[in-house]
Amino acid sequence: MSQHTVSITRPKTLQAGQPVYLGIDVGGTNVKLGLVSDDGQLLTQSTAPTPALGTPERVFEHAMEFAAEQLNLLGCGVTLNGVGLAVPGVLDTSAMALREVVNLPGWLDQPLLRLLADAAHVPAMVVNDANAAALAEHSRRGLGNHSLALMTLGTGIGCGVVVGGHPHSGDHGCAGELGHIAVRFGEDALPCTCGSRGHLESYAGSGGVIARLRAAYASQPQLAVPECLSSQNVTPREIAEQAAAGNAICQAVIDETASYVGAGIGMLAQVVDPAVVLLGGAMTFGGPGTPTGTRFMKLIRQTVRDTTLAQVGKHLIVDFASLGNDAGILGAALVAKQAAADASIQIANHSDRL
Ligand SMILES: [Zn+2]
Repeated sequence: MSQHTVSITRPKTLQAGQPVYLGIDVGGTNVKLGLVSDDGQLLTQSTAPTPALGTPERVFEHAMEFAAEQLNLLGCGVTLNGVGLAVPGVLDTSAMALREVVNLPGWLDQPLLRLLADAAHVPAMVVNDANAAALAEHSRRGLGNHSLALMTLGTGIGCGVVVGGHPHSGDHGCAGELGHIAVRFGEDALPCTCGSRGHLESYAGSGGVIARLRAAYASQPQLAVPECLSSQNVTPREIAEQAAAGNAICQAVIDETASYVGAGIGMLAQVVDPAVVLLGGAMTFGGPGTPTGTRFMKLIRQTVRDTTLAQVGKHLIVDFASLGNDAGILGAALVAKQAAADASIQIANHSDRL
């Protein structure tokens, strides 16, 4: 049995016979599991290292063991009504198979929905992890039929899109790949990890931010580079801390990042016209409640207004995400709930025909 940690939050409101849903959020490092109540409360969760489990079959087996054990602990006749799986990479939603993924050997081209349904014996669904997180934020904000995009800033730039209340994957599983829209053109545009050039991720992903910081110092050789910034492993948080302490170069790099991110959101907003765009991930320069994070957000909003039609820029809400690391599990549980609802409609229709 692989090592895993379990934390339990058991709300007083849990009723006998209440349905719960299992959310499985698979990443290259960890598999996160959670049982979620019908009203979206995370009742119990567990984390296990993905490489120790390995294959989809083994992950699903482990997830169902976790669910059985925790349902037993929750007691009062709580029933598992559905299972949802959130996965990174390019998900082909016709075959429910991953067509591109890094750090998950053995998961490519596997029939994930069939394998999950075989293990679960309850209605099951698979969703891209960015869309799962977006769906969870959408539900938490009670947005109903309105649209939302959740942009995640980190090493890469990801984005989940919920259109009219439903996750939108696109025909090739690539909808919302905002990190790979071009913000610079020409031979001198920075190369992107995808092989192309000038993409948002090359400028506003954490590697791009650090590269621009190094270039800014290189252009002003009279300035000494602070020790914490000269490390190979300098982080955006350290850049934010330096900016907060009055480092003008760090502040300029963060401001420039805000203008790239704002331009990206503006393009997305002009195409999708959502009600809300949220920013999450590790690279929000301190996020809400810090002067640097607040300034970052203010500049993003300004760029969105400056680069879109007034009707879009004036009404679009741009804010920080609120669910953090639990968003993937919660979104996976939401698609499980939808799968259970769809299955009960099918059963009802079948009964009507008899
Ligand atoms: Zn790219």
